[in-house]
Amino acid sequence: MDNYASFHQRSIRDPATFWDSQAHRIHWHAPYDRVLDYSRPPFARWFVGGRTNLCYNAVDRHLEELGSSPALIYVSTETGQEKTWTFRELYREVNRMAGILRSLGVAKGDRVLIYMPMVPEAAFAMLACARIGAIHSVVFGGFASVSLATRIDDAKPRVIVSADSGSRAGKAVPYKHLLDEAIRLSKHPPEKVLLVDRGLAEMSRVAGRDVDYAALRAEHMNDEVPCEWLESSEPSYILYTSGTTGKPKGVQRDTGGYAVALAASMELIYCGRKGETYFATSDLGWVVGHSYILYGPLIAGMSTILYEGTPIRPDGGIWWKLVEQYRVTTMFSAPTAIRVLKKQDPALLRKYDLSSLRVLFLAGEPLDEPTARWISEGLGKPVVDNYWQTETGWPILAIQRGVEPLPGKFGSPGLPVYGYDVRLFDAASGEEVGPGTKGVVAINGPLPPGCMTTVWGDDARFVSTYWSSLPGQQAYSTFDWGIRDEDGYYFILGRTDDVINVAGHRLGTREIEESISSHPNVAEVAVVGVTDSLKGQVAVAFTVVKDVAQIETPEQRTAHERDIMRVVDEQLGAVARPARVHFVTALPKTRSGKLLRRSIRALCEGQDPGDLTTIEDPSTLEQILAAVRG
Ligand code: ATP
Ligand code: MG
Repeated sequence: MDNYASFHQRSIRDPATFWDSQAHRIHWHAPYDRVLDYSRPPFARWFVGGRTNLCYNAVDRHLEELGSSPALIYVSTETGQEKTWTFRELYREVNRMAGILRSLGVAKGDRVLIYMPMVPEAAFAMLACARIGAIHSVVFGGFASVSLATRIDDAKPRVIVSADSGSRAGKAVPYKHLLDEAIRLSKHPPEKVLLVDRGLAEMSRVAGRDVDYAALRAEHMNDEVPCEWLESSEPSYILYTSGTTGKPKGVQRDTGGYAVALAASMELIYCGRKGETYFATSDLGWVVGHSYILYGPLIAGMSTILYEGTPIRPDGGIWWKLVEQYRVTTMFSAPTAIRVLKKQDPALLRKYDLSSLRVLFLAGEPLDEPTARWISEGLGKPVVDNYWQTETGWPILAIQRGVEPLPGKFGSPGLPVYGYDVRLFDAASGEEVGPGTKGVVAINGPLPPGCMTTVWGDDARFVSTYWSSLPGQQAYSTFDWGIRDEDGYYFILGRTDDVINVAGHRLGTREIEESISSHPNVAEVAVVGVTDSLKGQVAVAFTVVKDVAQIETPEQRTAHERDIMRVVDEQLGAVARPARVHFVTALPKTRSGKLLRRSIRALCEGQDPGDLTTIEDPSTLEQILAAVRG
């Protein structure tokens, strides 16, 4: 019997032997000659010489045993569509899509940009690209023309796959004019645009360039397209980071290493088994969508739910209804979604039969204790926080229940995942720090399989961005602050650019947020550092309260502000006390649920809030402005 500590140690001491023992989880068309080539650090190549295919592992491989079992379950509470594809049916659709893409001139190594709402055709297109060795670049449907144009110019796709429209809260969100504008702005327009017409919005077509999916599908009904056997290190996809902290980077992923890493994580972290159902509530445009809506569950032979809609329509019980209906065993969501549910009737958490569900995994941002407790107690299920990045593609920190079900600790995403040599370094000196001292979370190379192999088209940027920020260290920086306790559990304290300097004291805005969150009437809070002529910087808090009746009058607001400040004084000391506590009804966030702290800070300082194309609700910024102007 393995325990976590020895399992992790083996993965770090001898990565080649460790990953060799994990590689059997996927199908190799040709075996690899070497597990790891790290002769050119920080560039790591995994399973060198091995040939495989992501689509084969996700679909074809299961045909014999699971051909008539559900593979893709599509539920749209936006359009009312609900449909299941078995592995055999999915195989057929992917072959049709692959046939279409080939007929449009897409060959191995070509890029295909997928700009789609949450529709099954987006999944078909991703798998079809993988099948023919084309490199997909999925661009989140919420991005507008300028962001889309920069991604077109960077990846130079031969074909773009898109649709007439998305839908949000029952309203059509047309895509086509944004796409046309992006192509107009771009220096590398695609040769063809393949359009799925959902019949939700009018769209004009550009003759000679735009082609119709339904018509082409009819022509390619019986296509059988063989898998392209890629060398393990050949790229499978590019995915741009969400851009909450600056210019988007094209994260490039390999093929073999990614497949092995996902397959291992499905068992060792998520404990999902063949034939069961996985439900990740993310979007295919984000990394969670790539790894845990699409590839991970399918590689493991699980069925996966692709959900288009909000968590509260038709009501806040919709996700739990789906858990009951499809016997979901493993669920993956984000703290932000849980905070949305927190404002709903908690009885909805108990309305459905959740007996199939084993664990709820949450990732993407810090999981505060009140939110974790609320959902865990409400569902009567364990909640597992896991910490990772677009760059890594799968968890860096987690309780790995499939290795050893160690207890979790509230506020901590847990322990370093096998394969990751996680360290904490002092940002200024570059020296490693021990338990109880804050440091930058970093990973000593080589990064394990599945992590980004480079920045698309820019090896130098990969080295200079990620591997050169810690003085004297050759380590991958996550750009997150963390601290480790005596038991080895990590706590993420925020991003390295979220640290403020108040009269010489370095404070993590995240810590102040944690403290404010513990006030019984606080539902959500954002803290930013704002320039101050006296102290250098001061902390300013924006809070969403649970019970607005408590802040109706100006006197009540002042009293409430003082009460919140007192909590911070008691927990962190007066030095961390925010200069102001403002009350708003919602915070500015990206559609993936990340707080736009940079934009809040900019507004507080009277500056331009920056790129806001992924903002969920622009009116939240007006509230910030109004609050600041007082
Ligand atoms: P960009 O890198 O473009 O600024 P981003 O960092 O928001 O965008 P992602 O890769 O989606 O894009 O997010 C990863 C980041 O999210 C982590 O670096 C960390 O800051 C935060 N994060 C993810 N999971 C957790 C978690 N479980 N606990 C705390 N923070 C988390
Ligand atoms: Mg990031």
